Amino acid sequence: MKTQQGKKELISIILPVYNEEENISLQYQHIVESLKPFALNYEIIFVDDGSQDRSVEILQEIARKDKRVKLVIFRRNFGQTAAMAAGIDYSSGDIIVFMDSDLQNDARDIPILIEKIHEGYDVVSGWRKDRKDKLFSRKIPSKIANWLIAKVSGVKLHDLGCSLKAYRGEVLRQIKLYGEMHRFIPVHVSWVGAKITEVPVRHHARKFGKSKYGIKRTFKVLLDLITVKFLGSYSTKPIYVFGGAGILIFLASCISGSAVIFMKLFQGLSMNRNPLLFLTVLLILMSMMCIMLGILAELLIRIYHESQNKAPYTVKSTINIKNKK
Ligand code: UDP
Ligand code: MG
Repeated sequence: MKTQQGKKELISIILPVYNEEENISLQYQHIVESLKPFALNYEIIFVDDGSQDRSVEILQEIARKDKRVKLVIFRRNFGQTAAMAAGIDYSSGDIIVFMDSDLQNDARDIPILIEKIHEGYDVVSGWRKDRKDKLFSRKIPSKIANWLIAKVSGVKLHDLGCSLKAYRGEVLRQIKLYGEMHRFIPVHVSWVGAKITEVPVRHHARKFGKSKYGIKRTFKVLLDLITVKFLGSYSTKPIYVFGGAGILIFLASCISGSAVIFMKLFQGLSMNRNPLLFLTVLLILMSMMCIMLGILAELLIRIYHESQNKAPYTVKSTINIKNKK
């Protein structure tokens, strides 16, 4: 495919790497072999997210031999989202493909995603229909989370957590990534009007190395969902949220107040002998305040990042990258 300027379209494949010494060589070979039959013009961008094992040495060796391989090395571990953000910043592709570097995603699916982009979609999300991960700590929480996110955000995808996704570059470059928001990229780009679809992709069990996440992530994803919903629906009208919650809390306090009075008048229960009620009210208020404060903090973080134009990572060195940041 040619771009509008008549140049051959470039595909940037971005892989975050954190302690994957046994995987990356194989992953690299698998990408090259899978793409060989297709006349694609591509670059592979590995972002080393502060690995403590031999990942960097192995990547340097690969990059030295193959100029299509670009390497960005972080000073320390900044997290998968930051690594993906750096990948975007250092990429020049018309199409951007993300995948994990642990061999769980399959490079043979890349051409399928790209074909969908050519059909006119801005985002093609991989869907691990036959996912090879633990059932209780991974698959079930992820199913629930995806269902909730689809309900809340209106973006109907089965598998947001699948790393293997392709984006039209100009759409992806409109959004800024920080925190742990990479799972929500499709939701964020849907706000700028992106056309989204999904395709089933292969998935393999992790053979080497360990997963970097556990069950804790589910709770983080749910908290992120609150932020995403808030930013998507209410960021220009926060008073609806804060004011609405204020009214609700006021109503709740009216009810609890009436109950206390009722118990006093008809059951003879002295108000100050009814501690449960106070506790409940207190807890409700506290949880509300926590969530509100959380949202405020999220907003502040966004203002902080966007006004300073500060990258959420620091780079130690790069290889095969001309336009240094
Ligand atoms: N990763 C990263 N930084 C981190 C954690 C993970 O760059 O702090 C990379 C990791 O090397 C892998 C991808 O992100 O390529 C997904 O991580 P993992 O396989 O542990 O997640 P899972 O597949 O278990 O959800
Ligand atoms: Mg994995």
